[in-house]
Amino acid sequence: MEDCLFCKIIKGEVPSNKVYEDDYVYAFKDIEPAAPVHVLVVPKKHISCLNEMTENDELLAGKILMAIKKIAKELGVDEKGYRVINNCGKDAGQTVMHLHFHLLAGIQMGEKLV
Ligand code: 5GP
Ligand code: ZN
Repeated sequence: MEDCLFCKIIKGEVPSNKVYEDDYVYAFKDIEPAAPVHVLVVPKKHISCLNEMTENDELLAGKILMAIKKIAKELGVDEKGYRVINNCGKDAGQTVMHLHFHLLAGIQMGEKLV
């Protein structure tokens, strides 16, 4: 999608610190890290938010989750633990309308929201 920041990052038109890439997924460091490890894991296909995923995206959904698992292992945080967050929509505070999952680790995280 032309005017989408994360599409531009995936295409290399906007620079990013890449941590992982495969045919389906691109992952890069968040520009404003909220934890020592803060990676954004995004599908290469433009999907604006979780609401827009369809049954045709079931394979992709699995690829994203498996990529998160791989990245956590590669970054060495799989044993100690990590948190995965998806903000969908206004009330959740989604600011970039390209589906993404925050992978947070490297610090003892506080209260559970759910
Ligand atoms: P959201 O609030 O939509 O769940 O998360 C968007 C995230 O994208 C934020 O954590 C923000 O720091 C990050 N972000 C926004 N612009 C950029 C950018 O240009 N580069 C990188 N690496 N991260 C960005
Ligand atoms: Zn996009």
